[in-house]
Amino acid sequence: MQNVLERRMFITPSFKIYGGVAGFFDYGPPGCAVKQNVTQLWRDHFVVEENMLEVECCSVTPEVALRASGHVERFTDFMVRDVKTGESYRADHLLEDALRAAVRDAGQAADTARDLLPRVGDMGTAEIDSALNQFGVKAPGTGNDLTHTWAFNLMFKTQVGTRGAKEAYLRPETAQGIFSNFKELLYYNGSKLPFAAAQVGTSYRNEISPRGSLLRVREFTQAEIEHFCNPNDKRHPKFDSVSNVEPLLYDRATQLAGLPAASVTLGAAVKIGTIANQTLAYYIGRTYLFAQSIGLDVGRVRFRQHLANEMAHYATDCWDFEVQCAHGWVECAGIADRSTYDIDAHATSSKVDMRAYEQFPEPRNVDVLTIVPNKKILGKVFTKHAQAVINALNTMSECDAVEMAGKLRAGLVARLALDDRHVDVHPGFVTIDAGKKLVHGARFAPAVIEPSFGIGRIMYCMFDHCFYTRDDGQRTVFAFRPSVAPVKCAVFSLVNTHALNERAQLVAASLTKTRLVHALDTSGISIGKRYARTDEIGVPFGITIDHTSLQDGTVTLRERDSTAQIRLHMDEVPTVVKALVDGDLSWTQLQAQGVSSG
Ligand code: AMP
Repeated sequence: MQNVLERRMFITPSFKIYGGVAGFFDYGPPGCAVKQNVTQLWRDHFVVEENMLEVECCSVTPEVALRASGHVERFTDFMVRDVKTGESYRADHLLEDALRAAVRDAGQAADTARDLLPRVGDMGTAEIDSALNQFGVKAPGTGNDLTHTWAFNLMFKTQVGTRGAKEAYLRPETAQGIFSNFKELLYYNGSKLPFAAAQVGTSYRNEISPRGSLLRVREFTQAEIEHFCNPNDKRHPKFDSVSNVEPLLYDRATQLAGLPAASVTLGAAVKIGTIANQTLAYYIGRTYLFAQSIGLDVGRVRFRQHLANEMAHYATDCWDFEVQCAHGWVECAGIADRSTYDIDAHATSSKVDMRAYEQFPEPRNVDVLTIVPNKKILGKVFTKHAQAVINALNTMSECDAVEMAGKLRAGLVARLALDDRHVDVHPGFVTIDAGKKLVHGARFAPAVIEPSFGIGRIMYCMFDHCFYTRDDGQRTVFAFRPSVAPVKCAVFSLVNTHALNERAQLVAASLTKTRLVHALDTSGISIGKRYARTDEIGVPFGITIDHTSLQDGTVTLRERDSTAQIRLHMDEVPTVVKALVDGDLSWTQLQAQGVSSG
């Protein structure tokens, strides 16, 4: 399949004339068209369906934003090098491969390997090194020794401006652009939650060891959704539309028990608490339906729940959308409940209030603390810093205020955080009283549920599922859905004569008018060979102009997978092909209407 992908220029290694650079691919004409189609179908399925707010943010991201999100410190993978060749490897992947091999070999070390396997995700550099040593792991291919393990940051660094030194990175995910626009988006949405924003764009990761064609690359297209909602209400208004969808769920308990994934309706999974909330389950359901709509074999699709050690500390629940292909089970999307982490992190770092406001259906009588700083005393004690102390007292959290009130009541001194230092607050500096107040609503940081898709991985798995051979393996075919196919139909003149070619050109012109991507081939080489060439890139329909066409204006329409043909009038071709591509008409329905000729 990889051979066909490169020979027919779906993809080609970038800068191949210079030997290429690992982890970078260009999309050629059919690849580019398939990618456009998959992305458009994703947009229709998610953005249009949910009225999401689509944005397009910058790839170059200032350091401050990625420091706030945690990427500068933590977006790392463990790396080792071959001491002789300098080739880099993911240390955790080498270790996992070695442990799996030890389990398979069932030798002396099998039990230890079995115990260690689920713990690799929790290991630090020292522990990985000691396990690599224990299992005698060497560099693949060469058998050379490996260096020590270290944490390697995957972001590509750059600088902004001509006078240098303003550090930035190419974004490692599109999400941060959405988070930093949250306040604006909330306003655009009439200050109402829940809503979802989406972005399709390029992300960059300096992967330690790119591999598996499009599966692990250094520049790839992500399609991400950030669904913002009240952390106390994660119901989804359209959950009922997916509650009967029954995907394979591979939950945490099933994985730990070594059992296979099982089909469960999403309604039941939420009810029994396997999936943490409706919104998470809603996106699992929509992702399953999307997979089906682009022609993935849903028998080879599952949703795997993250084990506790795979999840970020702030995440509530997380499921990977995995697809089985020749490379095993591949994570094509992650669907995570990220709690309020992202908005909290950016609000703290930017000092911008990013909270949303919820109006209660009825006003509520709630307990409140009134904080009244004694400006006269504070002015005397703190002189020019008094205003900063007053501000800090007025904005301290409820929890800190309660603690301070307790101390002051007991005649003790309380500490107040002021930027990067602390000041002492004595009794009399501030009055803190508890009381009741009628409130009409509340401010809160929204929770984020994030489905994050990799378009290239999805395409690669789709290529894998659609690829087959016929004629004893002589010919290869991509059975793309018509909506995904790079070229919707090919127009052939049966033999290369002026009269037939003229008709073929007329049909092609009518297809152009209908905006149907097509190919025109008047070469006159054997029609079987020409069908085979178009099957190879997955063109679903072939239209052939023959001698009968000159007499009655009819042409043959051939379907790629069945190779069955019907005859129809050439004037009908654009409407019929368009209906087939849009899914308004199936081939079976058309056959029932038309006259079969073979
Ligand atoms: P992550 O932010 O790591 O959860 O990634 C989200 C999605 O982006 C994954 O599910 C993949 O589909 C895709 N992705 C991540 N890393 C890569 C990569 N190196 N190459 C291709 N796709 C990737």
